[in-house]
Amino acid sequence: MVKNELFDVIVIGGGVVGGLIARELTKYRLKVCLVEKESDVCMGASKANSGIVHAGYDALPGTLKAKFNVEGNKLMEKTAGDLGVKFRRNGSLVVAFSEDEIKVLEKLKERGEKNGVETEIIGQEKLRALEPNVSSDALAALFAPSGGIVCPYELTIAAIGNAMDNGASLETDFCVSSIEKITDGIAVKSEKKAVFGKVVINCAGLGGGAIAALAGDDYFRIGARKGEYVLLDRESGNFISRTLFFTPTEKGKGILATPTVDGNILFGPTAEPQESGDVSTSAAGLSHVLERAAKMCNKPPFSNIITSFAGVRAYSDRHDFIIEKSRNTEGLIHCVGIESPGLTASPAIAKYVAEELVGSIILLEKNESFCGTRAPDNFFSSLSAEEKNEIIKKDPSFGKIVCRCEQVTEGEIIRALRVNPPAKDIDGVKRRTRSGMGRCQGGFCQPQVAEIISRELGVPLTSVTKCGGKSELLTGRTK
Ligand SMILES: Cc1cc2nc3c(=O)[nH]c(=O)nc-3n(C[C@H](O)[C@H](O)[C@H](O)COP(=O)(O)OP(=O)(O)OC[C@H]3O[C@@H](n4cnc5c(N)ncnc54)[C@H](O)[C@@H]3O)c2cc1C
Repeated sequence: MVKNELFDVIVIGGGVVGGLIARELTKYRLKVCLVEKESDVCMGASKANSGIVHAGYDALPGTLKAKFNVEGNKLMEKTAGDLGVKFRRNGSLVVAFSEDEIKVLEKLKERGEKNGVETEIIGQEKLRALEPNVSSDALAALFAPSGGIVCPYELTIAAIGNAMDNGASLETDFCVSSIEKITDGIAVKSEKKAVFGKVVINCAGLGGGAIAALAGDDYFRIGARKGEYVLLDRESGNFISRTLFFTPTEKGKGILATPTVDGNILFGPTAEPQESGDVSTSAAGLSHVLERAAKMCNKPPFSNIITSFAGVRAYSDRHDFIIEKSRNTEGLIHCVGIESPGLTASPAIAKYVAEELVGSIILLEKNESFCGTRAPDNFFSSLSAEEKNEIIKKDPSFGKIVCRCEQVTEGEIIRALRVNPPAKDIDGVKRRTRSGMGRCQGGFCQPQVAEIISRELGVPLTSVTKCGGKSELLTGRTK
């Protein structure tokens, strides 16, 4: 418990933006604390999105979205590599189905040039050579070789873990309900705890507007827009290699089709205005996704669908990222309205916020002992037989497969409960190790994962939750 401790910087929100900012700040001799309202990190938009590292031809030149998208795309490869997170520069294609849409591709290409992004308009023949399963009705495409894909929750968890390994504190179950200017800085309080910082950074995603209002900053509004997805099994992994977008309209980018870094195929997201952070899926939303996927590709292998999910974007009424100092509270920085391409932009936003905004308030002295690398939580299946045997000899728990679909070992699950930031529930283990992410969606491994959590954390099995709060799986023994 960090009550009454004075930090240099408090970051509010354990998403990819807050996580990478916290990590960036640990490159300096600063005491950093990250506070998150949920019982685990990565519970907002960073948990459920398309995982696309956008090339940067789409954002309006001159906006923060354009600047940080392009810079973030360049930084992502090293950031992900250092953090042991899967990243692939698979390239993206904006597909045109009419002459009018081809004109839009030309405009996108011009916009890309202004943003400094290399693209090429390709005809049917090259498009089909690149993507044999693209719709036979597709006429042309804008090809952006610098587009990529990354695992968003791995990136967020690894960033926060690496920040913690470098000395940052993490306070979960800390829902900020008050922000108060005090003599030496700012007091950040929840119902139960208080932390104090010279600088406070609001990275609260959907809660970003409410946090700003607590400090008297009511000059922007944060809205919510839900996106629903369907996910296909890894068996379909080779169906497409690049990310396929429809030509954007005034309503946005629409449904995309993409491989994931783990070898699944993802179709989505919808874009439905919302009042809250509700992440339920709907028959209408999912039907729309399937209908558009079938328009984009010839015969998508829908028989391999293994799950559906939704994420919620937090957009600002400025239709751009808001990354600036508070007008009313000295030492408070807002980093909100970070909708797409926020995942892509996150490494660049983190660098800017640390170097330019925090650096203009606190003297930044290099932390000579900073170590920016981290081993992934789910590493075992990628090892050679010899390497696996060596590890099993030292720790037999790595010889026991718990999740058959994703080949996750007991050793990896135990590790996820111990390393920073430690998993506390079944979904936390799932996001760190992939156990339960395969075809059976946890049907076989979930009881075993619950038992391991119970044993390792020393809590009764009936207290093990799916995702914190009141999501216990078991009510008691039947025999
Ligand atoms: C459907 C969808 C698709 C997307 N696709 C892409 C894509 O392909 N590529 C791309 O670049 N971007 C994409 N994005 C955007 C990207 O996901 C976001 O820009 C990014 O995740 C935002 O991160 P964040 O840290 O700002 O917010 P979040 O991840 O939402 O984190 C905010 C955190 O703050 C916490 N919090 C809120 N209120 C409080 C409080 N009072 N006290 C303490 N903590 C609080 C929340 O619990 C949450 O953990 C997509 C987003 C969505 C929803």
